[in-house]
Amino acid sequence: MSVMKKLTVLLLLCFSPYAAGEGLPDLGDVSQATLTPLQERQIGQQSMLQIRSSRQFLDDTEVNDYLNQIGDRLVGNSNEPSLEFEFFAVDDYTVNAFAMPGGYVGVNTGLLLITQSESELASVLSHEISHVTQHHYARMLSGQKGDTMISMAAIAVAILAARNSPQTSEAAIVGSQAHMIQKELDFTRVHEQEADRFGLELMQKSGYNTHAMPEFLERLQHATRLQEGNAPNYLRTHPITSDRIAEIENRVSKQPYLLLPDSLDFQLVRTKLIAAQKTSADAVSYFDHALTDKKFGNPVAQRYGLILALLRANDVARATREMKLLRAEVNDNAMVDTLEGRVKLAGKNDADTLAYYHNAVRNHPQHRALVYAYAEALLQTDQPLAASKLLTEKLSNYPADTALYQLQARSYEKLGKNLEQHQALAYSYAWQGNLKAAIEQLVLAKRAGGSFYQLSSIESDLRELREMADEQHGKK
Ligand SMILES: [Zn+2]
Repeated sequence: MSVMKKLTVLLLLCFSPYAAGEGLPDLGDVSQATLTPLQERQIGQQSMLQIRSSRQFLDDTEVNDYLNQIGDRLVGNSNEPSLEFEFFAVDDYTVNAFAMPGGYVGVNTGLLLITQSESELASVLSHEISHVTQHHYARMLSGQKGDTMISMAAIAVAILAARNSPQTSEAAIVGSQAHMIQKELDFTRVHEQEADRFGLELMQKSGYNTHAMPEFLERLQHATRLQEGNAPNYLRTHPITSDRIAEIENRVSKQPYLLLPDSLDFQLVRTKLIAAQKTSADAVSYFDHALTDKKFGNPVAQRYGLILALLRANDVARATREMKLLRAEVNDNAMVDTLEGRVKLAGKNDADTLAYYHNAVRNHPQHRALVYAYAEALLQTDQPLAASKLLTEKLSNYPADTALYQLQARSYEKLGKNLEQHQALAYSYAWQGNLKAAIEQLVLAKRAGGSFYQLSSIESDLRELREMADEQHGKK
């Protein structure tokens, strides 16, 4: 299947042309009593496009890939293992996690930081996954009196509003049908219990320590008591009661307490978030102290954090020394490999750096952060042909990766291939849901000129995208 065909298949499910700037497109109305899985997916996609184009989306491939790794392991053991999920981090240091219909699960950086084990994180994800697989949104809407027609766009707005603070949501949904819907979107006690029950099952089947679920909820509840009136959003959307915790404790009481070592990635991801919160100078001294005190935390992760901070502080010499120490402690880890590449790149020994990336990408072909960095290094050292070969190969595995298309467009630009450059940009925009910009790029590609075959393929892509854009605007 060509890239564009796959794009068409996905975009047929998708509808938001101007997610960020121009308000919500008309998605049509749906019957409240029968929200189908496809409609759930569409509503989730709509909300996701909004989040992706906002500043809240944490644009860190390593953090997001890590969440998907844990999430996919859990989904694989659910009653809908083939449902496609997307897990993503939200750049927000308040404690929250939320599920949107159709398989989109967001986790705030604040929540990631207060989890004390991978099993605790898995307990949150498995609860959210279960809201999706049990179709709680559809059931909430159909549970209302009567069968009114409601707009899918309004549902998407209500869902986005529900995960924000009360003040923001009031402002966001005032005067719309969303306001009415939002009141219907509170998870009920029954839904919470069900998500706990199914979530525990997922954890158990996936080999996590189920006792982490009540432990985490208790800690959250305790933390909340200490800061009255400042309840994390998580507690507002998933109320924790002592009854609820007791019921979970009862369920896990007969299960073994598994003492599982956390993956190094769990530590590294959290370290990355800690480092990002601080100025570079503060981060250097924070990790320096942590390493000398040896009182708390994981020294490997702390050294990783120190090197991140040193790079930001432009202390390449020391970063290089610390990297040698870290390398002696960690044999094989994609995140550490990615960091080592950054240290080498900062050291400006181009030949060495490129050879290093070449091997690292071969060892970890699925670690996208490494691929981006390698492509970037090739572009910076004026090797656009090698970059475009690497990117073409990776795009066949990740045909929806907008960052890969953008790098591809830059390599074509350097190669003077204008048609291909605009075509790659068009795909990047199309996958972001921005059909208008995608069409503009295809028009530019056509104008740049090319072979008969290339031009007719662009012509047919254009026709499809224009049809989709027309449909979205209800012109048919
Ligand atoms: Zn819940």
